Amino acid sequence: MKKPYEIAVIAHDGKKADMVQFINKNKEILIREKIRIIATGTTGGKVESIGIKVKKMLSGPQGGDAQIAARVAEGKTDMVLFFKDPNSSHPHEPDINMLIRICDVHNVPLATNEATAQLLLNALTID
Ligand code: PGA
Repeated sequence: MKKPYEIAVIAHDGKKADMVQFINKNKEILIREKIRIIATGTTGGKVESIGIKVKKMLSGPQGGDAQIAARVAEGKTDMVLFFKDPNSSHPHEPDINMLIRICDVHNVPLATNEATAQLLLNALTID
């Protein structure tokens, strides 16, 4: 049996509301395509609050981005949607850069803003 397509979602604090809205808007695609969602801890909690099942990693600053990077490297995560806040700095910047690098190493689709994330999700619906 084919493994479910796994998408990781991460949003910096200034972008969490946008992420919840984005997931809500795309609920149908996520359900229809049987997509499994994983997320950093706080983002995951917010996405769960709109009734979406999420496998939560640690919070980003506690290593959640690093856990997601490990899943990308192991071939478990197929796409990363990361709503980065370009207007704030983050103590775990090295982990964030590591995740982006690992996606590039393993040629895994990565969106760092909502417009790109939407294009990537739309692409999953093309047969
Ligand atoms: P969070 O982590 O969802 O736990 O806030 C996101 C991040 O800042 O990387």
